[in-house]
Amino acid sequence: MSQSGSVRIEGVVKKHGSFTALHGLDLDIRPGEFFALLGPSGSGKTTTLRILAGLESVSAGRVMLDDADVTHADPGERDVAMVFQSYALYPHMTVAENIAFPLKMTGVAAAQRDEAVKDAAGKVGIGHLLARRPGQLSGGQQQRCALARAIVRKPRLFLLDEPLSNLDAKLRIETRAELRRLQRELGVTVVYVTHDQEEAMTVADRMAVFMEGRVVQVGTPKGIYLRPASAAVASFIGTPPMNLLPAALADGQVELAGARLPVEGAAGRHGNVTLGVRPGDLRIAADGMPAQIEFIEDLGDSAIVLLRLAGQQIKMKTEQAQSLAEGQQVFLRFDPAAAHLFDQDSGMRL
Ligand code: ATP
Repeated sequence: MSQSGSVRIEGVVKKHGSFTALHGLDLDIRPGEFFALLGPSGSGKTTTLRILAGLESVSAGRVMLDDADVTHADPGERDVAMVFQSYALYPHMTVAENIAFPLKMTGVAAAQRDEAVKDAAGKVGIGHLLARRPGQLSGGQQQRCALARAIVRKPRLFLLDEPLSNLDAKLRIETRAELRRLQRELGVTVVYVTHDQEEAMTVADRMAVFMEGRVVQVGTPKGIYLRPASAAVASFIGTPPMNLLPAALADGQVELAGARLPVEGAAGRHGNVTLGVRPGDLRIAADGMPAQIEFIEDLGDSAIVLLRLAGQQIKMKTEQAQSLAEGQQVFLRFDPAAAHLFDQDSGMRL
């Protein structure tokens, strides 16, 4: 039965003995949203997903689905479907039988099952493979089969744990676009775990960034990219990651490597800060911060230039690397609006 599919996590704590995997998590996910849980390995994403699925108990806090408290409900009572990284297909069953399995378990009649299986398989583009067994499918086809098995029940909530990580790079990009299309078509809420920030950025309506068992920022991918809440988030989002440099602030200018450059949002602030500048926001100019080019990674249409600035290695992304050479001394500047300022001690955005 399809319902609206909102999720609310309130103060959820998860302990494993003396180790705390989640420290009082709060999250609100809206109906029909594609919501990514993004963070480094071990930050608590999978634990959160398993708690939503009912596969893991909580040590404290509440889980609400569509305003019903399901904190202690069994997985089968939650009307959610989970797709694992490993797909977990039954090898001895055909694709059709795999997809039909959840319906069989809930006692749906055979004729109705066939209809639903065809429909679900068609939606993910494997309608022609129904008679095969999982061992006779490619990785991408297995992944679709797992998805079809999840959507066949029309759950109110989909939980996907790194569903694309077993696919090669090209297929991953194609499949994530398809997942997005499918989610829109079904109008279902998706909670999607990934450690790949580019994947989260491209598929999610909103995302939560996890670090060490805490959600450190929630927002749209663009919003988080443009205004990371801390230096840690800034260095996790964007490729290559943001350069973070110790600097001094005075009179609306930042002082670094003997150069003074204007920065936006610095009026009235003084003292030591961490300056963040994305690689794509740095450019070579006639004057500015002195740096030496150490290495040029040519990507074809652009290049990543590694430079040494005040004893630290930084990266610049440019489409004009033709005139640059390793060993060359240059000056770097950035647009005043492209500077991010963080507290040097707490790392929080200023
Ligand atoms: P990954 O991307 O590697 O899957 P994750 O962000 O999904 O990481 P979780 O799987 O949620 O991380 O794990 C969070 C933390 O909880 C990790 O440090 C993990 O080692 C720990 N953990 C998970 N399950 C247990 C357990 N049963 N006993 C002890 N610690 C556990």
